[in-house]
Amino acid sequence: MKWRAWAAGIAALAALGGGMLVQTYRVQIAPAASPAAAREIQWILDAGHGGEDGGAVSVSGVPESQVNLSIALRLDQILGLLGQPALLLREEDVSLHTPEAETLREKKRSDLMERVRMVNELPEATLISLHQNSFPQGQYWGTQLFWAPTDGSMELAKELQTLIQENLQPENRRAAKEVDPAVYLMNHVQGRAVLVECGFLSNPEEEALLLSPAYQTKVAAVLALGCVKNAPVPG
Ligand SMILES: [Zn+2]
Repeated sequence: MKWRAWAAGIAALAALGGGMLVQTYRVQIAPAASPAAAREIQWILDAGHGGEDGGAVSVSGVPESQVNLSIALRLDQILGLLGQPALLLREEDVSLHTPEAETLREKKRSDLMERVRMVNELPEATLISLHQNSFPQGQYWGTQLFWAPTDGSMELAKELQTLIQENLQPENRRAAKEVDPAVYLMNHVQGRAVLVECGFLSNPEEEALLLSPAYQTKVAAVLALGCVKNAPVPG
């Protein structure tokens, strides 16, 4: 029947339009912080991976990208309440690659280059890159901090590691370390930057915690506490 074809066409257009709107919105907001707003932003929150690149997969099949985003959104809210303006590099389950990227490999590379570009546009802000760990053996657990080879990053990573151990994981014996040279984003940013491997999605008990909203909020709250104690000094 004719009206059905018409309705289907409208639905398809709406879906297409919605997709295009999302795309436009993302492209516009990412670099769009006005000079005044950009000066206020003290923290850049990077929810690792996104879109086709889900990162590690948890023992029950949840992609790392979702857990990273949940914790990033919570951290953004808490920092906002504490008067610490933050910029989220992504607020949805998307990759940040530019339209020219076609293959998954190209998209991943372009996504990382875009993240670097956005971070380096705010050289006074501190990057908190959020990830989840995974290992073939399931017994490993615990948050671990990594620092970028930039000024002040080591001190912040060590302090956040200590705060996590004191407030959330008293049995955690991990020490903060310098990030591996292969981690592209962390080795191409110019400002203070730390990477948080919040926990192991390959450990069933820690996975259950990391997927629970209450624990995600606790992790975010401890990180926010460390951020407030180490807020960038206005330049
Ligand atoms: Zn990751």
